[in-house]
Amino acid sequence: MINYICQMSSFLDQEIKFLPGVGPKRADILKHELKIKTFGDLIHYYPYKYIDRTKYYKISEIHAQMPYIQVKGVIRAIETIGAGAKQRLSARFYDETGSIELVWFRAIKWQKENLRINKAYTVFGKPALFGGKISVVHPDLETEEEKQLKPSGLFQGHYNTSEKMKKNFLNSKAINKIQLTLLSLAKGKIRETLPPQLLVNMKLMPLEKALTAIHKPETTVDLKNATFRLKFEELFFIQLKILALKHSRNKKFKGFHFEKVGYNFNKFYDHFLPFELTGAQKKVIKEIRGDVNRSSQMNRLLQGDVGSGKTLVALMTMLLAMDNGYQSCLMAPTEILAQQHFQSISKFLLEMNINVGLLTGSTKVKARRMIHAALQSGEMQIIIGTHALIEDTVQFTKLGLVVVDEQHRFGVAQRAKLWKKNDLIPPHILVMTATPIPRTLAMTVYGDLDVSVIDELPPGRKPIQTMHFYENRRNQLNNFMQQQIEKGTQIYIVYPLISESEKMDLKNVEEGFRQLTETFPDYKISMVHGKMKPAIKENAMQTFKRGETQIMVATTVIEVGVDVPNAAVMVIESAERFGLSQLHQLRGRVGRGAQQSYCILMSSYKIGTESRKRLETMVRTTDGFEIAEVDMKLRGPGDMEGTQQSGIGFDLKIANLSKDGEILQLARNVANDILNDDPFLQKEENQLLLRNLLSSKDTSFDWSSIS
Ligand code: ADP
Ligand code: MG
Repeated sequence: MINYICQMSSFLDQEIKFLPGVGPKRADILKHELKIKTFGDLIHYYPYKYIDRTKYYKISEIHAQMPYIQVKGVIRAIETIGAGAKQRLSARFYDETGSIELVWFRAIKWQKENLRINKAYTVFGKPALFGGKISVVHPDLETEEEKQLKPSGLFQGHYNTSEKMKKNFLNSKAINKIQLTLLSLAKGKIRETLPPQLLVNMKLMPLEKALTAIHKPETTVDLKNATFRLKFEELFFIQLKILALKHSRNKKFKGFHFEKVGYNFNKFYDHFLPFELTGAQKKVIKEIRGDVNRSSQMNRLLQGDVGSGKTLVALMTMLLAMDNGYQSCLMAPTEILAQQHFQSISKFLLEMNINVGLLTGSTKVKARRMIHAALQSGEMQIIIGTHALIEDTVQFTKLGLVVVDEQHRFGVAQRAKLWKKNDLIPPHILVMTATPIPRTLAMTVYGDLDVSVIDELPPGRKPIQTMHFYENRRNQLNNFMQQQIEKGTQIYIVYPLISESEKMDLKNVEEGFRQLTETFPDYKISMVHGKMKPAIKENAMQTFKRGETQIMVATTVIEVGVDVPNAAVMVIESAERFGLSQLHQLRGRVGRGAQQSYCILMSSYKIGTESRKRLETMVRTTDGFEIAEVDMKLRGPGDMEGTQQSGIGFDLKIANLSKDGEILQLARNVANDILNDDPFLQKEENQLLLRNLLSSKDTSFDWSSIS
């Protein structure tokens, strides 16, 4: 049995140079250009489009804009034109409706000897307009006999190739040819990767048939089924991996049991909560209650648009921990954010007897020692801070809950580090993000987490009005700003961060600052940028927050979390340079108070189509999820924030996270069902799946916890 498997699997493991028609030189090119090293790599390199070879045109229908044509007809005349390097062979090709020219610049002698006048040919190729007439350069020519001899499949697969490959005659057609060679050799040697029962239940095409059909489809139905099978498999194994991790974590690690809702939670809720919770906040708190009340570790992602009130949910979860005798920590990505959380949470808890601490990189040694001691003794129940919380030698008596704010800056690996703080039982983890993630991406990048969504803003918020101005409306903008300030509003003006040139950033901001002081000599203006000392930056922020300055000029350092309810206008300069999620984040800085808020996107006249699309989207909607979907369509899933750090390979070969949401959901459901029934994949029928998981080349997961 073992031998049998080894023998079978070794076929696709063979080096690509041993495939007839490849050889060492082409093998080298395939390896460098496409990372194709083995037969298996090649067979999983799929066409990106297909050309329908069932379709024939009449010559009278042809025009030069068609991507390709296929015509039946005969050659009536052949002649050689020109001489030397410029020499070409020209043939006039007729059907009953007209004629076109066929042209060859290479292998002229060979063509001349082989082309037959008045013989029936099928011509396939790309039409072009030359001297006012249609011609096809280097067409595919096939006689009826040739067509019979090598049925090339009805659809022809087209493969992506690089310039270097084309120069070395490894164009799409050549790839197609070696694929067909490989398929004929592979017959009967491709091992199925999915269990028989799954194939039956999901009506999936067997692997060998699917691989054949994906490269050489005979019918549209075949192609559709093959595509489905391969996409399903690709997404299924990713989901199986992620969910196996989650299931084994739930089974292996106990979690602290927060069984009661106690004194502090109730006291806060009854007496100090300054407003009614939104329905969405209540729903999420209930979901969290469910998690922490079942003796396994909570791993929950809380998504909620900026201003939706996530901090409060975090606070109430921390009170829950406290009521059950546990400490909590809240970790923010920046010092400013940590301070802000500390301030707002301290304010909420002002009249409750709870010891809340703040620990960041700039906490003084003496204060730091005191905090360390208070955490170790258990006197301090809640600690808020930055990365200093993980890296530092911070010890807790009983850490029961870790809240991570603005999750997209922490990857899977850092998340794992958090729960090593407790030796035996890991704390519950709540990660919060204001960067809405498309559903498909959440299932993949954060697929090991349970997901809660706050899809409702606190009442009374007016939707932010967004406008896109070109430079010619600068005066209008200035008038508008003046009006707003006269009304008592504060204004942010944000300049882009150009990562290639920090110097230029600074110039932008400083130049902007200078111009503003000229335009508005009567107003006070603050400035914040990345090159400032933290203390000075913090001071500028606080001055603005206290309302002592009317305008805040900044780079994107103010992007996340900063809360100044009186600021109601956000002006974004060179808005075309920002990504969608960043624009959305920035806009979220306003619209926090009762007054109508505005976001004005300034751009130059010359902007590309993608930039235009981004700005249009911002003007059209304030729905973070909708914006995230557009963002993923524009950028592709691999470039979305969080995916880089996620450790999940995004080189999907056939599935597409922005298009295949339904298949993904299906794959996730199936994987979940299997693991619910057999969490460690120990049953006989799941051995094939386990083997495939363990042999996966993806090293970003720690499989030791499963096997
Ligand atoms: P997020 O972190 O989700 O961006 P915050 O937690 O900072 O949002 O909340 C934004 C603002 O809304 C804060 O000033 C907060 O006090 C307030 N807020 C939170 N929940 C409610 C609510 N249910 N009703 C009214 N205001 C709320
Ligand atoms: Mg927040």
